[in-house]
Amino acid sequence: MDTSPNCAICNAPANPECPCESERLQIAVKQAEQRAMESRLAEIKDWVISHARQHILNGFERLTSARKQAHSTYLSSLPFYSVYMQYSGHPPIHPTHLAQLQAQISEAHAELKRGIDADWRASVLRYPEVLDYFYSLVELRLPNDRSPRVIEPPFAAAGYADRGYDHSRIGKEGKKKKRREREPSAAPIERGRGNREEHMYTVVGRTRGPPPVPTPPIQPGGYPHPPGFYRYQ
Ligand SMILES: [Zn+2]
Repeated sequence: MDTSPNCAICNAPANPECPCESERLQIAVKQAEQRAMESRLAEIKDWVISHARQHILNGFERLTSARKQAHSTYLSSLPFYSVYMQYSGHPPIHPTHLAQLQAQISEAHAELKRGIDADWRASVLRYPEVLDYFYSLVELRLPNDRSPRVIEPPFAAAGYADRGYDHSRIGKEGKKKKRREREPSAAPIERGRGNREEHMYTVVGRTRGPPPVPTPPIQPGGYPHPPGFYRYQ
């Protein structure tokens, strides 16, 4: 006798295997990942961006302030520059000297601007590796496989048949329903409605051999989830 459980979704015999359960599992994983990771990833991203930006800006400021310093040192070294400044650009000097000085100043300003543009470009082009660096500082840690919290999650210690899947553990409250309401045939199917994703609980992967513990039910099309939906009585 084949004791393999029927498909939890469509109730077809275990052989040949239908794709329902693995499809539902993929959906469930995706949704769980979203619930668990979305806000954390957003937080990490903000952190990485703000530190990368600050690092780039700091580097750019250092480059340009050195450049501006060299620029003003150079200007001060030009003949007639101090008298030029003293007379606000109209110094009583020979027009030839004045024209030469103005050309030197103008060229120095253009050179400074080119340098600043180059500094900025070089800084901004470093973003990919700077982002890599700050992302590399973020630590992701998986718990030890032997951790009691991993081996024995604080619910369904004897399998789901004993007390059902405690909805309140994941922030859903509810009261008990009869098992028959769990049958797919009794489930209202309203396709085409907007899926309330957080209400879609789906099965976990099926195993061959010993019947698996009852798993969270499927909600085709995302119909409203009765509280305590898969609580056995
Ligand atoms: Zn199936």
